[in-house]
Amino acid sequence: MQYDFIIVGQGLAGSLLAWRLLQNDCRILIVDNAAENASQIAAGLINPVTGLRLVKTAGVDAFLPLARQCYAELASYFKCNFYIEQPMLRLLRKPEEKLAYTKRQQDQQYDCYLGRLFARAEFPECSSTDPWLEQTQTGYLLTRPLLQQLKTYFIASGCYLASSFNYPELEIAKTVSWRQYQAKRIIFCEGFLGMQNPWFAHLPFQPVKGEILTLQHGSRLQNMLNYGEWFIPLSGQQARVGATFSHDLNQTEPSVAARTALLYNLAQISPSLAASQVLAQHVGVRPSTLDKQPFVGLHPRYPQLGIFNGFGAKGSLLIPALSQQFVQHLLHDAALPKECHVQRYLA
Ligand SMILES: Cc1cc2nc3c(=O)[nH]c(=O)nc-3n(C[C@H](O)[C@H](O)[C@H](O)COP(=O)(O)OP(=O)(O)OC[C@H]3O[C@@H](n4cnc5c(N)ncnc54)[C@H](O)[C@@H]3O)c2cc1C
Repeated sequence: MQYDFIIVGQGLAGSLLAWRLLQNDCRILIVDNAAENASQIAAGLINPVTGLRLVKTAGVDAFLPLARQCYAELASYFKCNFYIEQPMLRLLRKPEEKLAYTKRQQDQQYDCYLGRLFARAEFPECSSTDPWLEQTQTGYLLTRPLLQQLKTYFIASGCYLASSFNYPELEIAKTVSWRQYQAKRIIFCEGFLGMQNPWFAHLPFQPVKGEILTLQHGSRLQNMLNYGEWFIPLSGQQARVGATFSHDLNQTEPSVAARTALLYNLAQISPSLAASQVLAQHVGVRPSTLDKQPFVGLHPRYPQLGIFNGFGAKGSLLIPALSQQFVQHLLHDAALPKECHVQRYLA
């Protein structure tokens, strides 16, 4: 079988890259081991201004419209809304956060992302005496239903194969061959498992494990909250709460310690949530990188091999825009942003 591209991995990265390549009439084969991945369990948050210093994510002014456009296009195609845009209230607890807000108020670049402060009396559901800052242009992606819809679509289009990809089976010549499949190029979208890829072993991944809870609660809270961790209200009095950060990848089962910490921190914010029932707890690994930038592009010595990975905790924001740019690079040799070009690291 002849293809233009074999794509390894059907997380958000492989899925949106495949979607764009299909729109450009490419013949593709997606190979995925069908294990639960980081994309499925992610909260899918898009939050343009983050950190104690309230810093705007680099490139967000360009990335965000393209993410919205991509998710609107998918919503229209699948007749289902996957991206829920709503403001988020962020607790300003530490002196440096309050100072940063004072500075940002005088910076026009932040006008479209930061709203007003809420006094405690306006927000009786929460017990904190610190102010809440309204952040705008925030939202969350319903990743699991989106990936399921895309998988069904890929299967119907005859371009999905549930299988593990084993590196020694790949033959590299002018084109690539894997089992009975041949392609001009293979693109690896393996999430944190990409660390084991022998052709990209030189890349400095810094994987970060995260745990996340789904709760049933009795609170009237309807706002997305960010208090160091976040609370995302869903329909039917359910919510997602998370996520933890850990570099210990030895233990990949849900832990009592993470669950206890997430519930404790939530109860500090709103005592009405203390009696929440945990419906589910998931663990995943963010494909983060040393310089906090993705790995996008072709291998410097084997241009038949490409990588689309390293989206860390910002996949929902970055993947739509960078998948478009990567497709332009693959098909028309358009330039990639140098900060995420994989060739910034020598093989
Ligand atoms: C707890 C948690 C919370 C998060 N919250 C957010 C958030 O709020 N907002 C946000 O933007 N991001 C968040 N993220 C990060 C987000 O999940 C990632 O940025 C993004 O999903 C990465 O997508 P990916 O496709 O690169 O990787 P993955 O989703 O991990 O997909 C990789 C795929 O490749 C497959 N694969 C790998 N190797 C092979 C092989 N050899 N053969 C076959 N298949 C293979 C895997 O099985 C998997 O299906 C969170 C992550 C975690 C863990």
